[in-house]
Amino acid sequence: MEILVIGGGAAGMSAASWARRKAPEARITVLERTNIISHAPCGVPYYIGGLFKDYWLLQAYDVKFFRERRNIEVLTNAEAEELDVRSRVVVARVGGQRAKLEFDRLIVATGARPRRLLSADARVLYVHHPADAEAARRAAEAAREVTVVGGGVLGVEVAEQLRNMGKAVHLVHRGPYLMSRDLDEELGSALTQMARGAGIDVRLGVTVSEVNDSRVRLSDGSYLNSDLVIAAVGVEPNVDLVRGQLRLGPHGAIAVNDRMEATYDYVFAAGDAMEHRNLVTGQPYWSPLAPIANKSGLVAGVNAAGGDKRFPGVLGDIVTRFEGVAFGRVGLNEREAREAGIRYVTSIITTRSRARYYPGGGDVTVKLLAEESSGIIIGGQVAGPEEVIGRLGVIAAAIMRRMTADDLFFVEMGYHPSSGRAWDPVVLAARQLMRV
Ligand code: FAD
Repeated sequence: MEILVIGGGAAGMSAASWARRKAPEARITVLERTNIISHAPCGVPYYIGGLFKDYWLLQAYDVKFFRERRNIEVLTNAEAEELDVRSRVVVARVGGQRAKLEFDRLIVATGARPRRLLSADARVLYVHHPADAEAARRAAEAAREVTVVGGGVLGVEVAEQLRNMGKAVHLVHRGPYLMSRDLDEELGSALTQMARGAGIDVRLGVTVSEVNDSRVRLSDGSYLNSDLVIAAVGVEPNVDLVRGQLRLGPHGAIAVNDRMEATYDYVFAAGDAMEHRNLVTGQPYWSPLAPIANKSGLVAGVNAAGGDKRFPGVLGDIVTRFEGVAFGRVGLNEREAREAGIRYVTSIITTRSRARYYPGGGDVTVKLLAEESSGIIIGGQVAGPEEVIGRLGVIAAAIMRRMTADDLFFVEMGYHPSSGRAWDPVVLAARQLMRV
């Protein structure tokens, strides 16, 4: 059996590895357009900011590892240019030469790409693929005053790093507060205040209408001086290769079933290139995040090799960090609940993250959303200096298992004065929603 994987990121390499585990005898080939595989785009803002100097730390495992330890053929600088799904053929450019590759099973893991800010403006820098991280770092180092466009997770992280590098930073966001797509107002406003307090010039409710050599014009007519513009206005599925060959979903990514099959039973898609079902609404949902890429890759790989693993769906567990405080959300926020037509109730609490006598820590805020009629938890947001990802994970498990606020209240969350409270903030937020 010939298994061909297109894309050597998290999803593609996870798929290839699990296909190997399931089918020791299969021939497995991965095509990767760039020179880096098994990479971590999540580290790119921190590489730009100089948090670490060794670029290759962005790569978890190298080509040699996959060849020698997993018997997987990995071709780098190898771009799939044409795909004929019915004939089971891919035409690729491998090191400058065109090559025809046949497959029995295909896994498409081509990821996402940045949305363009203004039509292909060469003066705008996009922070995305690790392969471009070095150029982005050099451009950032050379700049004095930078405008970052987009106040989502990436924009916030890049703005923080630039500020740490000593740059003057403008952060332009069209929403009413930072991370307004993910966070509700309470947590989003706290993040915005923190960014402003850290000296970042945050401009809200405006968009960029023009980029000149030395300044940016905003939609309200004002100008910002800047010798570098970094756009972080979102991503879109990278699906040009499969357009017209595989069915796309309403979000423009490859539509898959629970086996990660895409249109045909011998074609699979995983990671940012695919869209799946939201676990709360049951509706198609696109959530381009690393843990989803890893797990959907596993499912695609196992099934391409003849197994039968099922992917349950996604929640959108998103976390960022600004100046030592993490902000995250999982499940639905208020806007998404309204859009889904769900009547909901909320609770929000702020406590210290540690016992009052234990040094360190800070405030932690937990917000929960529950369906009004049933009390079932449908979303949560957490901000704080520690244990944020773990608390979001507990809320994620509660949503996934359709727990009510009462169920979540009784989840036994451990306690030690160094990193929590005997009444954990998640438990307290659930208690507010409990029916007594
Ligand atoms: P990708 O990582 O995009 O990999 C796809 C690969 O396919 C690429 O290497 C590409 O070169 C290759 N490719 C594309 N087309 C072809 C072709 N035709 N032929 C051959 N190869 C091709 N997620 C989190 O959960 N937490 C975070 O903190 C976080 N931070 C992020 C920060 C940044 C700057 C970025 C860009 C993303 C971040 N993400 C984060 C998202 C996360 O990195 C992605 O969800 C994850 O990398 C998706 O993996 P993937 O394999 O589907 O796609």
